[in-house]
Amino acid sequence: TTRSMALAEQAKRVAAEFEFGQEHVRKAVKEFIREMDEGLQTEGTELSQIPTYVTAVPNGTEKGLYMAVDLGGTNFRVCSIQLHGNTTFSLTQSKIAIPRELMVAKTSKELFSFLAKQIETFLKTHHEDHYFSTIKRRKTGDKVKEEEIFNLGFTFSFPVHQIGINKGLLMRWTKGFDIADAVGKDVCALLQAEIDELHLPVRVAALVNDTVGTLMARSYTSPGKTGTLLGAIFGTGTNGAYVEKLDKVTKLTKNKDAGEYDKSTGEMIVNTEWGSFDNSLRTLPNTPYDIELDEKSVNPGIQMFEKRVSGMFLGEILRLALVGLLKDPNVPLFKDENSSDNDVHSTTQIHEGTPLFKQWGIDTSFLSICAGDTSAGHRMLRQTLDKDYGISAVSAEDAEAVREIAAAVGRRAARLAAVALAAIVITSGRLDTLSGASSGGEVAEEDIIDIGVDGSLVEFYPGFEDHVRQALREVEEIGEKGEKRVRIGIAKDGSGVGAALIALVAGRVL
Ligand code: ADP
Repeated sequence: TTRSMALAEQAKRVAAEFEFGQEHVRKAVKEFIREMDEGLQTEGTELSQIPTYVTAVPNGTEKGLYMAVDLGGTNFRVCSIQLHGNTTFSLTQSKIAIPRELMVAKTSKELFSFLAKQIETFLKTHHEDHYFSTIKRRKTGDKVKEEEIFNLGFTFSFPVHQIGINKGLLMRWTKGFDIADAVGKDVCALLQAEIDELHLPVRVAALVNDTVGTLMARSYTSPGKTGTLLGAIFGTGTNGAYVEKLDKVTKLTKNKDAGEYDKSTGEMIVNTEWGSFDNSLRTLPNTPYDIELDEKSVNPGIQMFEKRVSGMFLGEILRLALVGLLKDPNVPLFKDENSSDNDVHSTTQIHEGTPLFKQWGIDTSFLSICAGDTSAGHRMLRQTLDKDYGISAVSAEDAEAVREIAAAVGRRAARLAAVALAAIVITSGRLDTLSGASSGGEVAEEDIIDIGVDGSLVEFYPGFEDHVRQALREVEEIGEKGEKRVRIGIAKDGSGVGAALIALVAGRVL
């Protein structure tokens, strides 16, 4: 019918606004490389390029018992990790909700002594013998042997200015935390002081960023012979950490606060903070929906890459695009008076209170449903619109229009994600060497360029990796040959095993 023709055309037009073609990808990769370089030399640039003081990635043979804690937002996680030395590990963990009043406590001591008590409870429960044998001697002033002390990795997901592998000054609280006296202090020292007060055999050996944890976890568990190059997160937010040549991290030598670090490997892991890539929009796409989302966000003008790529925002971009169509009386979206759901004829209804008209009303998991529902009548998609979004009896044409726009938003996000991966793969120089072992279409293990990823978007969005790979092939320096050498694997549990591995690496130099 003419109605559905008009709708299909409108959907195509909106989907086309999200196109991010080969030329755009190539241009953005160049800009990403430029910003990487700038960030390694200077403080306060778009890509922060934070030196992490972690100077090696694991190869899977690491062994021992380590601890990790994770203070991320709502929960505090405590774990112990046994590394078996054969790329496998076992993990014991407990998770405790952080009492609201501690998030806004008068003194940081209240929060950190609570955290130390949770570590004590964990040790008593899961490492009873060890706990009681060391605690007796500690209390009587006797020395606890070095090998009896657990090295602990502390994942602390708030902005810190890191000045050593286990030293970082809190810049500001986020996510509802607000404890004035902690700002400017070394959070590792705050935790260590409370641990010592309880005489626990635990040393805060490393301050861990979750992307670095992802990289370390992947490098330990990856089947490859070469260490992992990059750890990337595509979840609520997006960020990546990668292995950089130490002599390129020139701002480290200019920083008078910089602490000691191991120079023997010639490498250091750098936390890019790529969520703020190209905040000045030199190469990022900028549709009317992106503009509106940014204007109505709590932090206009910043995290511009993240606002086009990560789970927190994609649902909202789709929502704004759909609302744009609905506002136009000439577009027949959700206006079907005789919509056909099999034989039942009914009128499409948008129920009052539908999240469609509320900011953040559409969750990014809906994009996954759209991308995954390739069935003829889009049954799953229509059911979700009905059940979760209060839009009932939509026509097959409506569903197809929604699907097309959602797919365009998801595809653009994946192609933007590829920009970051491509830039890091290219600058690593790993494409420039090829062992004799690879031949024909087969890539030898030593020629693999390994990338660890984590986050619901990359894990659950159907075809995310395919779109990333397509874009990688379109970058001249990578091409089909290079793309084949890239292996992308899920790296689970960066703040557990990843943090433990950083504590291990840190323990070697402390
Ligand atoms: P976090 O990054 O907070 O540790 P996740 O990796 O689970 O946690 O990411 C959560 C984000 O992923 C949310 O923004 C949510 O909207 C989005 N998300 C959840 N499920 C899916 C899904 N099935 N497909 C795509 N995105 C999803």
